Amino acid sequence: MSRYQRLNLQDTETFICLNCGRTVAPADSGSEQRNHCPFCLWSAHVDLRIGDRRSGCRGKMQPVGIWIKENGEWAIIHRCAKCGFLRANRVAADDDEMRLFTLAAKPLTRLPFPFAVIESTEGI
Ligand SMILES: [Zn+2]
Ligand SMILES: [Zn+2]
Repeated sequence: MSRYQRLNLQDTETFICLNCGRTVAPADSGSEQRNHCPFCLWSAHVDLRIGDRRSGCRGKMQPVGIWIKENGEWAIIHRCAKCGFLRANRVAADDDEMRLFTLAAKPLTRLPFPFAVIESTEGI
């Protein structure tokens, strides 16, 4: 079995996270396809379309943000560190909640404008 085959993020098999090296078990039955590590939230660029495993990139995909869908469901925005490909992936029930929170709050710790701008909009 090659390294790439072993690292395929298939929901039916255990894989080793490319980022943190932890062993990730298949998703529980009934849940969505496992496409990222529940511990560090990183993924891998293995799909051209979700689930097809046809990408030749195989780069590590960094969790870079949270997208809240219209129905309130959270998705993680992953960006490939190798080619820059962006993809949204559904949050899984066993994802690390503190890491999700930290990811969602990160932009608030790095505002690209002075905080006073926010205070000045009060009452609008
Ligand atoms: Zn990981
Ligand atoms: Zn890539």
